[in-house]
Amino acid sequence: MQRTAEAGLHITAGDGISLSMQSALDETLALAGDCPEAEVAALESFIAGHRRLLVLTGAGCSTGSGIPDYRDAEGGWKRTPPVTYQAFTGEAATRRRYWARSLAGWQYFAAAQPNAAHAALAALEAAGRVELLVTQNVDGLHQRAGSRAVVDLHGSLDAVVCLGCGDRRDRAGFQAALLEANPGWDRRVARIAPDGDADLEDADYASFQVPGCPHCGGMLKPDVVFFGESAPRARVEQAVAALHRSDAMLVVGSSLMVYSGFRFARMAAEAGIPVAAVNLGRTRADELLALKVRADCASALSALAGTTMQ
Ligand SMILES: [Zn+2]
Repeated sequence: MQRTAEAGLHITAGDGISLSMQSALDETLALAGDCPEAEVAALESFIAGHRRLLVLTGAGCSTGSGIPDYRDAEGGWKRTPPVTYQAFTGEAATRRRYWARSLAGWQYFAAAQPNAAHAALAALEAAGRVELLVTQNVDGLHQRAGSRAVVDLHGSLDAVVCLGCGDRRDRAGFQAALLEANPGWDRRVARIAPDGDADLEDADYASFQVPGCPHCGGMLKPDVVFFGESAPRARVEQAVAALHRSDAMLVVGSSLMVYSGFRFARMAAEAGIPVAAVNLGRTRADELLALKVRADCASALSALAGTTMQ
């Protein structure tokens, strides 16, 4: 089954947002009938048979919240690959383009709500079944759904850090600074991406002003791990330790194409810890999996709710 996640997500500033967000939710609800009972049953027994889970989530977990994922069913890019750390720090034009698109996409990203997949994982934790939830997402939706034992492997978009003095500030506050320097840019047509980036049409980025750090004038960067950057060691070590305390690993909505997520599946396999994955498309770890559920995350996990939460 192939999803065209972006089809319903062409977000137009103004009145477009509610329609496109709604269509994404409708799509998720429509998919709820698409998860075969046999696969749900297999996932149920997998979870029932393993008391403590390390959960790893990716972009597919948030598509039901209107945040599109990066990859198609074959693991290829659906849109232009994300900005790399090297390009962001090395090229002023790339930073202008990044922040211009981020300014336009932020309001939609910030308005996204947790979906049934987030809720089911929070319920699983409340039932004492989750050792740790490691997410590759930067949207904060697991925490908003009530999950507490969460490691944001790739950081969080709700903060901005200064590469000069290390100052860390709220992204919402930086939005005001961006808008003040670039009036009207929030009303441009945008299509959001999983990292809060957005596609703008016919934009002339050359005129865009990127405010520097208010303390030192240094370069500001969203507090997320960019492509080409490594996940911070402390977070990786926390996840590895939790994996070794777990009976099984559950991957939700990640193709594991990026090494930072794939390594946990490989470590689990090496340690004899079984791995199950819920993902619509191919994953890089398919040959390592004890169970593969080809289904939308929200429909597969909400089908579990109430049956495996004891
Ligand atoms: Zn600074």
